[in-house]
Amino acid sequence: MAHYQHILLAVDLTEESNAIAEKAVALSQQTGAKLSIVHVIEPINFAYGGDIPMDLTAIQDQLDEHARQKLIAFAQPYLIPSEQQHIVIGLPQNEIHRIAEEQDVDLIVVGSHGRRGLSLLLGSTANGVLHGAKCDVLAVRVG
Ligand code: AMP
Repeated sequence: MAHYQHILLAVDLTEESNAIAEKAVALSQQTGAKLSIVHVIEPINFAYGGDIPMDLTAIQDQLDEHARQKLIAFAQPYLIPSEQQHIVIGLPQNEIHRIAEEQDVDLIVVGSHGRRGLSLLLGSTANGVLHGAKCDVLAVRVG
């Protein structure tokens, strides 16, 4: 089987992200693949449906900056260079697909809680990434 050339690690920056990153790093070392990382910031008005009659720009800016710093700190021990760190705003599954295509990625690595029942019906990010991906997807079981 041909080796992967470019792996994209998608992280939500929760505690579980390290376990997922370790798998992605090991795989990139074994195959010699380039490793990139992506974190998607979800806009506050996605969560509140634009219902709040106030300007959330300042809060959003603070959250963006916090996420940026968190991603830099997260990527450091894995020696992922800054040009391979992507921080974008939007819907995680859409943005992960977009970056993967833009960067010629051939494997996306995500975490999966392997949920069942209602939450499976509602769909998780891992599920969303798997469906519609134009490359392989590795779902690392966490939690
Ligand atoms: P979830 O479906 O939210 O439990 O997330 C499952 C996995 O999807 C996470 O372990 C990450 O790999 C990926 N993911 C979820 N949210 C994001 C995000 N905001 N940015 C990048 N990856 C994410």
